[in-house]
Amino acid sequence: MRTMQLTFAVMIATLLTCAKMQLSAVYAAADAGAPAMTPTQALAQLIEGNRRFQRDANSHPHLHAKRRSELAGGQSPFAVILSCSDSRVPPELIFDQGLGGLFVVRLAGNTVTRAGLESIDYAVGHLGTNLIMVLGHESCGAVKGALSECVSKPAAGLPEIFANICPAVDQARRKGGDNLESSAIDLNVTDQVKILERSPVFEKRVADGSLKIVGARYNLESGKVEIINSGD
Ligand SMILES: [Zn+2]
Repeated sequence: MRTMQLTFAVMIATLLTCAKMQLSAVYAAADAGAPAMTPTQALAQLIEGNRRFQRDANSHPHLHAKRRSELAGGQSPFAVILSCSDSRVPPELIFDQGLGGLFVVRLAGNTVTRAGLESIDYAVGHLGTNLIMVLGHESCGAVKGALSECVSKPAAGLPEIFANICPAVDQARRKGGDNLESSAIDLNVTDQVKILERSPVFEKRVADGSLKIVGARYNLESGKVEIINSGD
């Protein structure tokens, strides 16, 4: 199962590399904006915003007409968030960010797909974003579904969302423990971080430290985002 997922990761990365020239042409209209933040600065900004959110002390930054006008000519988001579609986990709100701050890719189960990887590559390669966060969350319906679906059928026959989570479910079952669902949620985040780190489009940047990929988990009640893969 694990091999299958890695094979999938290599496949989408290869396809992306092939498509890179075309994407570059499409995105040739370079997006202007403020100098890019370092990965450390970007992560600090996310954590600080999440602290405001937890305390009900949101500053609701960058939501005014002046900001819309500033952004009309281009964008330079400081972080990419790969997160679940769950209505309880909207990245801009839980990190207390406004327009132009976050480049968000959302789908149930927060897994890496080809289109998702291409989207993330656009932010990293063309918008100057130097931090990627994979964000899972407590009580994720996609992980719950995978916990039941991955048992009875081979991953190849499952919907893509479940098939992408099955390796984490397998690891969680082997690991054991009291809370299989919680373990699978965290392992799924870690799997997606590894897939991104090993992607040919990001691996050099990760190795030289100019790009950081972190994994995190959101707690529904406290509102806290906890870092589970620091990228260090
Ligand atoms: Zn979810």
